[in-house]
Parts: sequence; structure tokens; C-alpha cells
Amino acid sequence: MFGRSRKGVVGARTPGELDAMEAAGRIVGRALVAARDAAKPGVTTADLDDLVEQLIRDSGAIPSFKGYEGFPGSICSSVNEVVVHGIPGSTTVLSEGDLVSVDCGAILDGWHGDSAWSFGVGELQSDVQALNDATREVLAEGMLAMRPGNRLTDVSYALEVATRRAEERHGISLGIVDGYGGHGIGQEMHEWPFLANEGKAGRGPKLQEGSVLAIEPMLVLGGETDTRTLSDDWTVVTVDGSPAAHWEHTVAVTVDGPRILTPRPQD
Ligand code: MG
Ligand code: MG
Repeated sequence: MFGRSRKGVVGARTPGELDAMEAAGRIVGRALVAARDAAKPGVTTADLDDLVEQLIRDSGAIPSFKGYEGFPGSICSSVNEVVVHGIPGSTTVLSEGDLVSVDCGAILDGWHGDSAWSFGVGELQSDVQALNDATREVLAEGMLAMRPGNRLTDVSYALEVATRRAEERHGISLGIVDGYGGHGIGQEMHEWPFLANEGKAGRGPKLQEGSVLAIEPMLVLGGETDTRTLSDDWTVVTVDGSPAAHWEHTVAVTVDGPRILTPRPQD
């Protein structure tokens, strides 16, 4: 799943290939905004899934999650203590105060976009809102390490440092979820290398102009970073029931700085 490696360096996409990836990524960005705008009390995550699948197909793209290793949805919808890989369903009814993470991917002309965000249904509890704000900020800060000549784990380290800064800024305790992270992406959704959300700087393959990674911090409120997978073999939940947030962009290294290939029409 993380194959197609070129030793020592994360492969480069040409400017034309980056444009093609951004075309796929823009569809993902529109789908995420549509899902958030539709997420009201009483709406089910199956409703959000239907909406996103329709939007992606109407845009001439293919929902990459659907059927991926047997996954049944076009989105992962992960509510409250669900960290990632929640299966959309008609029995998951959203309520005021829920923290919803939607992760989504699309394929257009053979190129993948992959992006996620979390949002509240109505008002979130203040500490949950802080968790979500922090996760968004950690992604924004971490991606600044996407610079030519940096190594893979310079991004991991930047994400970790940003997480500790966010804890202080928001006055909350945050856990970096164990065992999950970002990845290379291009003509496959999950390509080499795996990108940890924490760790020592200066290790792993080098980044160069045109290298692309999906960067996806997953943070939990409180210090417990262990998760377990439910019997559906997908749904990943925090062991202590703490809420989790997840933000992701597909990001390219350019000489002008990180280029987000999954831009959203609104943030
Ligand atoms: Mg994703
Ligand atoms: Mg991803």
C-alpha cells in the first residue's frame, strides 16, 4: 500500500501533474464544504455520504474511498470519539454539539486528491472547539516544513512541535494518535512513504520540488493516545472515549512554499 518507492527521495511530480492533482483535489474540497454545510441535527452520516458521492460523480470524478479494501462509503465519517475510518450509516444521526470528521478522496484523470476536516454540528463544547482549532492550526504549521531539501521527518517534527505549541496556546492537553499518519499520494491514494505525525527531525527520504504528501494530524483531547478498532474492522475509536479531530490536505513542495492541492472554496 505504500509502495512505488524511489530510494532516498520522495518522487517529483511535474507542474502539469500537480495541476492535474489539484483538479482532483478541488473536487474533494467542494465535497467537504458540501458535507459540512449539510451536517445539521437529524441528518445522518449516510445522507452526507450520498451527497458527497453525487457531487464527486457529477464532477466527472470517482470517489476513491468507495470499495477501497472493501470500504462501503465515499466518505469516512468519524463522530466524537471516532478518530478515523467511521463508516457512514443511516443509524448515525447527528446531534447538536457533535464533532464530525469527514475524510474524502476523488480520482480525476487518474490522479488522486485526499483531504479531511472536522467541524461541529452547531456549537461545540469549548474544549472540543479548542481541540478542533488546534488540529487545523497544527496542519497549517506542519505543512510549512514541505520545503526542498528537508527530510520526511522534518514534517513529522514540525507537526509535533506545532501540537505542543497549540496545547499551550489553547490551555488544553492534546494527544497525538498512535499508529496513524499521512502518506505519499499520486496515481495511488496511499503511496510510499508513511508520514508520522511526530518524531525526530532530519530522517527519512528527502523532499524535493514536486514531492507530494497527504499530511493529516489526528489529535485527541487529553493524553490518552491509544485507539482500538471496532468489530466492523474499520471504525477507530479512542480507548477512553475522548473526542478526536482530523485535518488533512494533499500538499506539494514548491520553490514558493507548500502548495495545497486540495483547496476548499471556504474554510
Ligand atoms: Mg484522507
Ligand atoms: Mg490520507
